[in-house]
Amino acid sequence: MKVGFIGLGIMGRPMALNLLKGGHEVVVWARRAESMQPLLDAGARGAGSPAEVARAVEVVISMVADAPDVEQVMLGENGVSSGANSATGGAGWEGLVAVDMSTILPAAARDIGARLAAAGIEFLDAPVSGGEVGAIAGTLSIMVGGSAAAFEKAKPAFECMGKNIVHVGDAGAGQVAKAANQIVTGVGVLTVAEALNFAAKNGVDPARVREALLGGFAYSKILENHGQRMLDRNFKPGFKSWMHQKDMNIVLQSAHELGLCLPVSAATAQMYNAMVGAGLGEEDSIAVLKLLERLSGGEG
Ligand code: NAP
Repeated sequence: MKVGFIGLGIMGRPMALNLLKGGHEVVVWARRAESMQPLLDAGARGAGSPAEVARAVEVVISMVADAPDVEQVMLGENGVSSGANSATGGAGWEGLVAVDMSTILPAAARDIGARLAAAGIEFLDAPVSGGEVGAIAGTLSIMVGGSAAAFEKAKPAFECMGKNIVHVGDAGAGQVAKAANQIVTGVGVLTVAEALNFAAKNGVDPARVREALLGGFAYSKILENHGQRMLDRNFKPGFKSWMHQKDMNIVLQSAHELGLCLPVSAATAQMYNAMVGAGLGEEDSIAVLKLLERLSGGEG
């Protein structure tokens, strides 16, 4: 299949590489030429704009940052929609499926989908979980919202990038699932940092405490994976703290619209806000440990 990929950062680069490994013809675009180079070296074709990508493929994927970025690459000047339109003289390129795999507000995904539909393009929201490790290994969890027909069309591409691929429901449902995922992981990273800081400040080796906890009901993948990285003090992103701030904001904004009570998410969001304020925004979200250390009288 001919697949386009837009946005070649920490996640997008390995995901696009896995599409190539899966035997697809891949056309890429990134706003910085150096981001495209590893993909061109691996056999992908470069394009001059998202519109040019859209003209060349059957399925076009974006993996950028937040809703305004998705809007820009899909609907902006030289965006996917203008490429698809110009291919058929303004009538829309029937059959083109646009898939956004970034994490954005569910309402924004529904809005972008509706505007692309008006240009004759089917849209799927398909955010992921599993981090850089999962992106490299091709084992991401992919949560999809949109029509069954568009899902079936994009499935061969999803299968190169993920293992647990779930068609959650209609437009926006993938982003709702991802927001739920970020409640669990955002709170999870914070609680693991709290537990390890608690152990250390009590004069007990946090590595031994983690080892003990891994065998009981406190076990979680986050205690295992993120907990180890906290012990190693490896704060290289991974998943940037400002991205987790963005995601907790998505959770709270969605909750606000519906009048929902999410007290734990609200407290967690404050910590990610403070991380950005403390200059830790570009570090991995596990650097929340540093913030807790500072608030507990340490250096951090
Ligand atoms: P990243 O490393 O910052 O990559 C984002 C890429 O998108 C960058 O290469 C950036 O280009 C490009 N981009 C952003 N805005 C753009 C725009 N308006 N036009 C064109 N290109 C644009 O971030 P990431 O970690 O890969 O995350 C990407 C998305 O996946 C986010 O929505 C994030 O929440 C989600 N996500 C991340 C993880 C993770 O563990 N990292 C896990 C699950 C989901 P430049 O290089 O020029 O800045």
